Amino acid sequence: MEAMLRGVGVSHGVAIGPVRHMGTAVLEPPATQIPSDEAPHEQARAQAAVDAVAADLIARGNLAGGEAQAVLEAQALMAQDPELMADVSRRITVGSSAERGIYDAFAAYRALLAAAGDYLAGRVADLDDVRNRIVARLLGVPMPGVPDSDEPYVLFAHDLAPADTALLDPTLVLGFVTEEGGPTSHSAILARALGVPAVVALPGATEVAEGTVVAVDGSSGEVLVDPAQEKQEELRQKAAERRAALAASSGPGRTSDGHRVPLLANIGGPADLPAALAAGAEGVGLFRTEFLFLDDSAQAPSEEKQYEAYRKVLEAFPESRVVVRVLDAGADKPLDFLTPADEPNPALGVRGLRTLLEHPEVLSGQLRALAKAAEGLPVHLEVMAPMVADRQDARAFAEACREAGLQAKFGAMVEIPSAALRARSILQEVEFVSLGTNDLAQYTFAADRQVGALARLQDPWQPALLDLIAVSAEAAQALGKSCGVCGEAASDPLLACVLAGLGVTSLSMGTASIPYVRTALAKYTLAQCRRAAAAARAADNAADARAAAHQVLSGE
Ligand code: PEP
Ligand code: MG
Repeated sequence: MEAMLRGVGVSHGVAIGPVRHMGTAVLEPPATQIPSDEAPHEQARAQAAVDAVAADLIARGNLAGGEAQAVLEAQALMAQDPELMADVSRRITVGSSAERGIYDAFAAYRALLAAAGDYLAGRVADLDDVRNRIVARLLGVPMPGVPDSDEPYVLFAHDLAPADTALLDPTLVLGFVTEEGGPTSHSAILARALGVPAVVALPGATEVAEGTVVAVDGSSGEVLVDPAQEKQEELRQKAAERRAALAASSGPGRTSDGHRVPLLANIGGPADLPAALAAGAEGVGLFRTEFLFLDDSAQAPSEEKQYEAYRKVLEAFPESRVVVRVLDAGADKPLDFLTPADEPNPALGVRGLRTLLEHPEVLSGQLRALAKAAEGLPVHLEVMAPMVADRQDARAFAEACREAGLQAKFGAMVEIPSAALRARSILQEVEFVSLGTNDLAQYTFAADRQVGALARLQDPWQPALLDLIAVSAEAAQALGKSCGVCGEAASDPLLACVLAGLGVTSLSMGTASIPYVRTALAKYTLAQCRRAAAAARAADNAADARAAAHQVLSGE
């Protein structure tokens, strides 16, 4: 029976396909005693689950090939380790169920690995993954993590963290729907990077049955459950028409009277380059380098590995602007080797630049790799720091860049209200600022960006956020410096016009949004954008600000 659910649309487009749920973390199996005459049956169940998981890992390795194959084969070997299996069997003999026996035997093995020094300790995550797969199979619950599917699907999840999604096959994901997460959550960012529709903060998302066909409208936030065939056809038709209209948009970002607002791409690594180039990005406005660090959260990637990734990005945009953000670890992007495990409030703790100033070797390694990657290229490299709070932070970052011999412009992200209010003083130390409106909203409204119930406060149309953007843009303008926006605010076509009107000098966004923003900007003059900005700032809440800007622009 057709039903309609409504959340917050955060990435444009329509996706129609079957639901696949992101597997949740495996629960600890109950420690109930089983009668001794059931032990042989439990041992057989354990062995069958181990064999099935090992076979599945090998089959997936064969499909993936390369480095991934080696990793998956090593995991299959771990699963079948004879000593580990002997321990499972022993535990079942003394009363454990198959799942509990696996769980406890792996825990003992895990402790040994963790204590055995760097290399083996780094394998703990692989071991946990194998255990989770076996236990999930025995409990009959979905596999943890990314669904195993050969067919395209709409991914449903409670929420998505960057580490969860690193293994997603983008060719299979038609769209995202999450129960939690606001417009600035990583689910939203990732959806825009992949160019797939997404709806977040949808109550009841995790209860929609696996395999149900849904139609997701990433603009309106509507999710139709089990839509009739005719409705599916109608939605497909509309989506195709819209895509065709957008594909016709090209060229640099400018208002109808020629005021230039370069449209740049937000990327997480070289894999995002083809889409950025295809969308006509004029450069990169935010390279989130932490994605290079997520593969292995136990150590920093080598300078060589970083160099290779940076070089590919810089080569893809010769003679264009490429803004690289140094590592933003902590809070929602923790890294084992950097992020303190015991912070009472990680979003307000040691994250971003604070982490790098405590680990200067990580920062200098990154800056050296970047300097080397830019050698001999005509690219306009810019490097910026996340979570700059004040002038002292900006100075420390600029000094680290100079010490590394980096030939680039140095900049600061404005993500903390203090940095917006004192942008003028921060710009004494650096050459540009870039507004990270996702964190700026989080810290202005004291509203965790991961919490769907607070989506209202993370709305980038909030007039208080617009005021902070205006203050930053005015400070930059007074000093003849640039002030871009690289948070998700830039990807909303109407808001992009308002940002231009506030004096923002470039807009950087997930590449799928570039055609939408380009088309919107080209409709209005700079004077119209300024009037829309003034009307939005005069409103009392986000909905009224949006309506006021819309009225100004559509009425003129
Ligand atoms: C931001 O906070 O707006 C931003 C661009 O950084 P991230 O989303 O990666 O925290
Ligand atoms: Mg941020």
